Parts: sequence; structure tokens; C-alpha cells
Amino acid sequence: MGELYIDGEWTSAAAGGRRDVVNPYDASVVTTVDEADATDVDRAVHAARRAFDEEDWAGAPTRRRADVLLRVRDLLLRDIDEIARTETLDTGKTLAEGRFDVEDVANCFRYFGELAGKDGGRVVDVGPDVLSRVVHQPVGVCALIAPWNYPLLQASWKVAPALAAGNTFVLKPSETTPLTTIAMMRLIEEAGAPRGVANLVLGSGATVGAALTSHPEVDLVSFTGGLATGRAIMTAAAEGPKNIALELGGKNPNIVFEDADFDAAVDYALDAAFLHAGQVCSAGSRLLVQDSLHDRFVDALAERARAIRLGNGMEEGTESGPLSSAEHRDKVERHIASAQEEGARLVTGGTRPDDPALSRGFFLLPTIFADCDRTMNIVQDEVFGPVVTVERFRTEDEAVELANDTRYGLAGGVWTSDASRAQRVAQRLRHGTVWINDFHPYVPQAEWGGFGRSGVGRELGPTGLREYQEAKHIYQNLNPGPSGWFKG
Ligand code: NAD
Repeated sequence: MGELYIDGEWTSAAAGGRRDVVNPYDASVVTTVDEADATDVDRAVHAARRAFDEEDWAGAPTRRRADVLLRVRDLLLRDIDEIARTETLDTGKTLAEGRFDVEDVANCFRYFGELAGKDGGRVVDVGPDVLSRVVHQPVGVCALIAPWNYPLLQASWKVAPALAAGNTFVLKPSETTPLTTIAMMRLIEEAGAPRGVANLVLGSGATVGAALTSHPEVDLVSFTGGLATGRAIMTAAAEGPKNIALELGGKNPNIVFEDADFDAAVDYALDAAFLHAGQVCSAGSRLLVQDSLHDRFVDALAERARAIRLGNGMEEGTESGPLSSAEHRDKVERHIASAQEEGARLVTGGTRPDDPALSRGFFLLPTIFADCDRTMNIVQDEVFGPVVTVERFRTEDEAVELANDTRYGLAGGVWTSDASRAQRVAQRLRHGTVWINDFHPYVPQAEWGGFGRSGVGRELGPTGLREYQEAKHIYQNLNPGPSGWFKG
């Protein structure tokens, strides 16, 4: 029995490919899994196509779909300890964060389970002789492609609404972090999804991902990952053309005004920048601090950053784990080197920890650069590691201008005790989520996604369901007779 799930069966890759799954804490091999290729993708897409066309899923009473989703939610909570452990082994994140993730994933399934069937479309008032209705129907076969930083969470933001709307899907997690996605698929099977509705393929982006996005039987591609990959996927999808949803990167400003609660702002600036070693699409990696506060703030932040306890995510007391892979750490280190060449001032970090206990894993110290300005690559490029840049501003206008000077637009934070200013600034920020006196929370009821190059479309919330639906207008003439348009 393999780890691909195709047409209701656990199966092995046709060509027999296998891949090691590595624990980033110590570079040990956790397990090996199937590595699919285009043949397996083709089989999975055909299974999803058949299920969409023949299984009574899209057309079934919505209650049936809701029941499956709500059962998945219960099963996730039943298995939370095991799944959280697996996520920690696979990603290096702390066990506490792994548990948070599973709870969030369960909430996501509940939200979309409860939303399924709530929206009966709308009646358009055209006049007494017409019944005009707009209804929402599933798009069809969805290719769902997820990244490695929140493997289960990002997959659930796609899987739950796709199922709620009545689609069938083929899911591909990141090749480096497939384990909790395999676990979730087992729960979807246990929850009673019909054969072929939910399919899983494992493997590289270049082979499996590309075969999925270019497959002619796929109706929609939903992707979360990096900007360059997003571009390639959009290009491949244009051939269809297919429906497309992209959740891409971010370079997210966190603005601290002088009237902010100092201790809270420092504390959250730390979370914003260094949660999950900064490998968060919405990481507050671009800190903007008002001039009068700047030096004190940077000193306090640096002191807290030096105190972050790096270690094994499995162990109590660990506050942050490693980066996800040796290659990814190399990439972050290149960003750090080029920041120094550009003239950014290294306040703390910038190197690997010297603790021998961490030497086998892919660790990097929490890193702060000050004296940064918006022309620097380190300020504009997504680093996706434990690196935060600090810039100064004097006025509210300048803060907004700097915060919007990015090609991304995923999220941002505003710290102030002036409620009017908070709302004013929030209105003006060109970012998909704005937190006021907070950083990072999201809820499944509210839309998530990016302005600019942070993406196309939205996940979560009612719009997150709409991504997986086609709108159909049904117009009925209640008083039919000749139109009389042509006279002959
Ligand atoms: P990535 O783009 O390298 O890979 C993401 C997924 O795409 C993986 O499953 C990969 O195998 C697949 N892939 C790669 N090349 C492909 C191709 N040519 N065709 C089809 N699929 C392909 O991204 P990553 O390194 O796994 O994730 C990090 C990125 O994800 C960061 O930029 C981060 O900001 C972004 N991200 C965004 C959000 C969001 O909500 N906006 C959330 C999490 C992560």
C-alpha cells in the first residue's frame, strides 16, 4: 500500500519512485514516501473527472457534503496529538505551533462545513413575468498545490471549500513536507468522501506540479507558494484557460507609532518577525518605527531576539525551530550577505548558532538589520527566514508611503493608541489583511489574500468558497409567447 490516494485507493507511484522526508532539526530521514510522475497525475485527474461527472457529489444534497466536512473536523481533533507531532517532525516547528495549526485546520473544516448549502444564490427582480435566479455551482476538477511552511493548514484552506462547493480535487503538497497531508487524506477517506472525489499525488513541482497545472481535464488551479512558481503556474493555466487562484509571498510592513503600547509592540514585533523562524507568508519582516522611538525600540527588540530559545520543536521550552531545508537556509544566508553589502547595519544574528547541539539542523539566529531604506533588496525581497529590517519614519503619511512601497501586498500591522489614526492608516494600506495592535491572527470567516503580487483571488470567508464555484444565471419567462422581433 503506497502513499498516493487515487480513486479511493492507496497506491504506489507507477514508476516506483521514492523520496526521503527529512527532519530539519537534525537532517535525519523520518521516512520515505512515493514520488509520483505525470502518469500518476493523469490517473488521479481522470479519477477526479469521473467522480465529478458520475458520482452523486456535486448534485447531492448539500447536507451530505457538510456531514463529511464536519466529520473530518472531529477526526482531526481526535488525532490532534499525532498530527501535531508529525507536522513538527516534517517542518521543525514547535509542537505548540503544530497543535495550533491542527486546531485551525479543524476550524476551517467546520466553517466550510457549516457554510455548505447556506447560500441558495439570489433572486433577481426583473419584473412579474420573469423568474431570474443566480445560483452557484462547482467549478469541476480542482488541482490544489500547497507549500511547505504550513503544509496542513494551507492545504485545508483549499480542500475544505473545494469539497463544500461540490468539486473533486487532486492535491499536491510540497515534496518536502507531505506527511500531515497524507494523514488528512486518510481522515477524508474515513469521513466518507465518495471514491475519486479526493485524490492525493506526491512529488516535485517540476514534474507532478507542472503535469497537474497543464492537464487539460483540470478546471481550476489553486496554488500557494512563491512568486516565481505562481507566475509559471499562471502561464501554464493560460493554455486552458483554467480558473486560477494564487496565494503568493509577502514583505509585510509592521508600523509602530510613538503612541503605541511599547512593550506589547516589541513583543508582537518579535512574533511577527520570528514565528516559525520567519517562514510565514505574512511575517512582519519589514518593521517601520517612528523616529522618536526608534533606537529604544531596536535595542529592546534585539535583546528579546537574542533570548529566543532555538531547539528541537519536540521539546518543551523550545521557542523556535530550524529553517526547512539546507537549501533554504543557504538562500536566506545569501540574502543576509547581500544586505550587509548594501549597507544595512547588522544589529544581531546573521549567523548560524554556535551551539553544537544544533549543528546538524538547518538553524539560523534571529537576525535584525537597522538603518535600512526602501531601495535595498533586503527591504523589498521576501527572505522567508528569521530576518527583519528596520526603517525609520517621521510622519503618518511617510509611514503609509513606505508601507505601500512594495510589489507585494499581503498583510500589515499598525501599532498606535489613537483609534482614528489606526483606522485611517488601515484604510490607506494596500494589503489584504491589516492588523491593528496585533499581528498574525486570521479567522476562517474572513477573507485572506494579497494585493499586488501577493496573489490573485482570496481564500477563506465567503469569497474563499466562491473561488470554487461558477455563477449561473437561470432566467425563466413565466408568460411565454411570440417575441415579434422578426416580422416576416
Ligand atoms: P514554492 O513556490 O517553491 O512551492 C509551492 C508548491 O508549488 C510546492 O508544492 C511545489 O512543489 C510546487 N511547485 C513548484 N514548482 C511548480 C511548478 N512549476 N508547477 C506546479 N507546481 C510547482 O513555494 P514554497 O517554497 O513551498 O513556499 C514558500 C512560499 O509560499 C513563500 O513565498 C510564501 O510567502 C508563500 N506562501 C504564501 C501564503 C499565502 O497565503 N499567501 C501562505 C504560505 C506560503
